[in-house]
Amino acid sequence: MSYQVSSNIQETLDKLLALPQVQKALEFAQQDADQTLENQIELCKIEAPTFHEEKKAARYAEMYKELGLENVHIDRHGNVEGLRPGKGGGKKVLMEGHMDTVFPIGTNPQPRKEGTRVYAPGIVDDTRGMVVPLSVIRALDAAGIQTKGDLVFVGTVEEEGIGSFGGMLKWLDDNQVDASISIDGPSAEGIVYEATGHMTCEATFHGIGGHAHGAFGKVANPLNAAARAVAKIAEFQVPEDPKTSFCVSNFHAGNDAGIHAIVPEATIKFNLRSDSQQVLEDLYQRILNALQEACDEETARWGKDTITVTHKRYCNVPAGTQDVHSPIVEATYAIIEKLGYEPQFFHGGSTNCNMAIGKNIPAVCLGMGGVDCGAHTLQEFFETTDAYKGVQQALLLALLLAGVDGVTDSILA
Ligand SMILES: [Zn+2]
Repeated sequence: MSYQVSSNIQETLDKLLALPQVQKALEFAQQDADQTLENQIELCKIEAPTFHEEKKAARYAEMYKELGLENVHIDRHGNVEGLRPGKGGGKKVLMEGHMDTVFPIGTNPQPRKEGTRVYAPGIVDDTRGMVVPLSVIRALDAAGIQTKGDLVFVGTVEEEGIGSFGGMLKWLDDNQVDASISIDGPSAEGIVYEATGHMTCEATFHGIGGHAHGAFGKVANPLNAAARAVAKIAEFQVPEDPKTSFCVSNFHAGNDAGIHAIVPEATIKFNLRSDSQQVLEDLYQRILNALQEACDEETARWGKDTITVTHKRYCNVPAGTQDVHSPIVEATYAIIEKLGYEPQFFHGGSTNCNMAIGKNIPAVCLGMGGVDCGAHTLQEFFETTDAYKGVQQALLLALLLAGVDGVTDSILA
């Protein structure tokens, strides 16, 4: 792919890289690798499944305070926030990593070192995303770099599973920023700049129920209705581009005690995803139609008006995209190249970045590179080799977006 970075962004980056202060910060980031890893191991040991991030948040807030961030506090949603104020005249930039993991309390998170790797559930996703910003702050301080715009650092809650990026969404609802950098994942060469939307829903078919023989013909069967709905959904055709998918992920009705009964209730759960918000909404509407048709057909089959369907949505994450040549994307590309990697664009994405993109805030998620670190498994590991480059990447992007006092303006118009 031939991808050209605009000359103004390339020049601004070159100008920063020519500054002794910036060189000092980049060198510091490398020297700071052990300290950063120590923070990572300490935080990783604090279990934090989604909706139970309090202990990790409390320690993370202390770390922000130890680094001298201002206005450090835990917001009403549980997000940890701290400010490194700018001198003025720049853009306000958010840098965040999520605090929750997919592992329930009781999972042993004791990190184990083996060669250049550290093994522990959650060590990368997203404890790494929490500590990269700490190293960025130390490097900026060590080099005495003053940004124009404010840098806001946030540890977010409720990213994983049915948290569905809730912490990020609520923080963005309460706060204004001009750009957003999410850090989630181990390596430096990937750029996530699009958002795959998704919805997770549950539909329950309700009936009267009764004896399998005695009530036969007198009541319709909600289980049949649910099965009719699933059969309809199974036949859906969806576009390959924008990538779109659907999955009935759960089907539940009846129990062993009622093995000779017409059930009173049957429930299905399903997950829909698309890179296009319009396609996602259309697909959701088709599913709602299929649920109603299934109800109607089961009712008509028996001539008994005894079935209804209700549904609820657990997650509704917007889809969206940004121009591949928007300044934040070009800047990320240019930085990754400078660090000696081949930049890799990802299409779609399910990260906290979705919520910023959904609000039309320039946003990228860094760290979603090609290294398979076994995220979300008990074998998850962090590869320490060259990990400091992730810190350098985040630092340079923050400087390009916020502007550096007396040197460069924000690349955001
Ligand atoms: Zn993550």
